[in-house]
Amino acid sequence: MALIVQKYGGTSVASIERIQAVAQKIKAFKETGDQLVVSVSAMSGETNRMTALAQTIQDTPSLREMDVLLTTGEQVTIALLTMALQQLDCDAISYTGAQVRIMTDSEHGKARIKSIDDYRIRQSLTQGKVVVVAGFQGVDVDGHITTLGRGGSDTTAVALAAALKAYECQIYTDVDGVFTIDPRIEPNARKMNVVSYEEMLEMTSLGSKVLQIRSVEFASKYKVPLRVLSSLIDNPVGTLITNEENIVEQAVISGIAHNKDEAKLSLIGVPDEPGIAFKILSPISTVNIEVDMIVQSVSAREGLTNFAFTVHRNDFKTASKILDRLCQELGAIAVQSDDKVVKVSLVGIGMRSHAGIAAQMFEVLHNESINIQMISTSEIKISVVIDEKYLELAVRSLHAVFELDKE
Ligand code: ADP
Ligand code: ASP
Ligand code: MG
Repeated sequence: MALIVQKYGGTSVASIERIQAVAQKIKAFKETGDQLVVSVSAMSGETNRMTALAQTIQDTPSLREMDVLLTTGEQVTIALLTMALQQLDCDAISYTGAQVRIMTDSEHGKARIKSIDDYRIRQSLTQGKVVVVAGFQGVDVDGHITTLGRGGSDTTAVALAAALKAYECQIYTDVDGVFTIDPRIEPNARKMNVVSYEEMLEMTSLGSKVLQIRSVEFASKYKVPLRVLSSLIDNPVGTLITNEENIVEQAVISGIAHNKDEAKLSLIGVPDEPGIAFKILSPISTVNIEVDMIVQSVSAREGLTNFAFTVHRNDFKTASKILDRLCQELGAIAVQSDDKVVKVSLVGIGMRSHAGIAAQMFEVLHNESINIQMISTSEIKISVVIDEKYLELAVRSLHAVFELDKE
């Protein structure tokens, strides 16, 4: 008998029929003798719908009240799924995050889980029940309801698996695993059977939204075997995310990630002198804007340089305003802002032992006449920023040239 944590995402519980189908699957698992803790998301589209509703009242509603509002989505699905299980004579009980003491910090909208009290869950498991826990939500030390950031139900599931020392954490979604690239963009995307935590961390941080990045961080830290698989087909196999040591065959490149949330800002012709990066980026970080890629060119003309960086598109307007002010203060020539860019990245632990991948990537983009605006590399990834209109062309060409569709 194994303890398994399963998570069903928004599309898997999008209608009463889907919820009933999920209940059938859970009942069948239970009948094999396993103990099951199930975490669910809100019905697909609900979190967006409620966010839009709030914005008809206030442009920027209080984050605390947003958390009170948004967590109702998951409260609906835990109750409906539990009813569907009971209707099938499968004993089950639902719990909100607060009821099973998913304790978080107080950062409304992006809280981090600090601890989970497994007492109540274990008690219900011992009584032979399937335990259904609301994803995405927790409670802080003062009893305020918090949420874990978009896609946060993945993190709830992995944190539950870590706390309960589960045999495996299974993330059920609308695709049967992690693919070499988002299958919605490239129909030739190939499913990977196994991926290392490190590669999955890169893929998610570089924009692959199949899992929330924090769930992968948790899984890696607590060594939770994590499987992504489809709830929409019978007998899914999915992708196992595990330790590098467990992976026998290492591909040079495992996958391609892309991120459409980036925006690029450049300060043209700023004096090339010590402290300039600090003077530009310090006012940006003061207002809590995270900077991703940074490029400072060698002095373009006598004593002047160009300084460019990317931020999340949500922060684009605020960052542009700051740069307009800095342009005056620092005596720069101009600000150039562009929110029509995208970041495309190649990821693979095999890159560590293979030189020349970057050059090959640049050649592919050159052959398609795609201009590279920024580049950054690490041991296991190469990222470029390009015009967003070339996204599909770029990723499909890279996928084909690096033969990612082949085993
Ligand atoms: P859920 O609602 O179940 O949490 P998500 O929409 O958050 O589902 O995640 C699943 C989606 O992730 C897929 O439909 C797919 O389009 C997208 N995705 C992005 N990159 C990848 C990838 N490399 N492999 C598989 N799916 C990916
Ligand atoms: N319902 C939340 C969201 O849409 C959490 C989740 O689905 O994981 O982001
Ligand atoms: Mg998700």
